[in-house]
Amino acid sequence: MSQLETASRSLIEAHQLARLQIGLTRVLAANRFYQEKLRHHQSLTLTSLADLSTLPFTSKHEFISDQTVNPPFGTNLSNPLNAYIRLHQTSGTTGHPLKVLDTQESWDWWAACWTTIYQAAGVTDGDIVFLAFGFGPFIGFWSAYEGAKRLGTLTVPGGGMDSLQRLRAIQEIGATVLVCTPSYALRLAEVAREHHIDLSASTIRVTIHAGEPGASIPATRQRIEQAWGASTYDHAGMTEMGAFGFACSEQRGLHVNEGEFIAEILDPRSGRPTEEGQIGELVLTNLGRWGSPAIRYRTGDLVRRGGYQCGCGRTFLHLDGGVIGRVDDMLIVRGVNVYPSALADILHRFPNVAEYRVIVTKDSELDEIALQVECPSSIVADIAEELHIALNLRIPIEVVAPESLPRFELKAQRIVDRR
Ligand SMILES: [Zn+2]
Repeated sequence: MSQLETASRSLIEAHQLARLQIGLTRVLAANRFYQEKLRHHQSLTLTSLADLSTLPFTSKHEFISDQTVNPPFGTNLSNPLNAYIRLHQTSGTTGHPLKVLDTQESWDWWAACWTTIYQAAGVTDGDIVFLAFGFGPFIGFWSAYEGAKRLGTLTVPGGGMDSLQRLRAIQEIGATVLVCTPSYALRLAEVAREHHIDLSASTIRVTIHAGEPGASIPATRQRIEQAWGASTYDHAGMTEMGAFGFACSEQRGLHVNEGEFIAEILDPRSGRPTEEGQIGELVLTNLGRWGSPAIRYRTGDLVRRGGYQCGCGRTFLHLDGGVIGRVDDMLIVRGVNVYPSALADILHRFPNVAEYRVIVTKDSELDEIALQVECPSSIVADIAEELHIALNLRIPIEVVAPESLPRFELKAQRIVDRR
């Protein structure tokens, strides 16, 4: 653990302000996107962290429009193009994919952010890290690979393999750390069961998850831990932002890596800061990716503001329960806020639920939801009862045939929007 992770709040904030001041100077000297965006701001000399709130937000929409007008890479570049060494892009599941370039410096910064995630999960250079994903343009696992390399572990890229081949490779190599999406960890466990492979006896001792929330949802985490006989850690990151959140041994959610990011948690409607315990939208500024920075970026992630004290000893801001959902994903059903993570937390408590999805429809002006679940019909009444207790809603449940619902290697799409 770095010294900053347990430092006083005043020291952490002084560190953040100093990094921000240096970075802004670099950005304003060369970055057309932010030069244009901030040109009406009289004073860009920030004398305290509170001054950050005088700068405008940045949205994904702005980055995408900029790339549409200035193809192919847009103008959020602080260096000449030949300084950039990597191109990644967002999945595009919610619209046009965004391309993001990194310089060697900012790519090294990504790797450093990932070493924080590994170290908080107790991974050391004696571990063998297996990365179970196809190495495409998605940044998450490439950066996980770079971070593992920087930590000095033996890293095993598990691309170009099907699930059974990956399971065999893990066994053969004796991998000790698995990195994949939480959905895919559960899919691998399912394939292992079909082939009579006992994963709880495998050498995997830690699993780290990326790409979607899930590992901070207690029932989902427990299900992964039981299947693999391992300790499961969440992390949160975004292509356009960086790997900003990591889980610690306390397993109550995520810490923000405040050495490398400034977090604000704001009411999505009023834009005002939330109090401890309240849910708001996470707005982030990265402090080391000056080649293609994101300043006051509206992540669209809903988080609950925790405190600055944690049993692990860290003083970095805590997000209780991790990323709870997306601002766009929150459903209001008969007046009740329903987060997809809350549904996962209930359904994953039932070992006989293999997979599920949520069908969203509109009845006149109101959202309605129904569930399709791969499970024995004998447990439907119990699931309905748990949902009723937790959400105070009666949700219709349809039992579907085993293996009939989609499985996912990357981000799971369990919400089917028929509105
Ligand atoms: Zn902690």
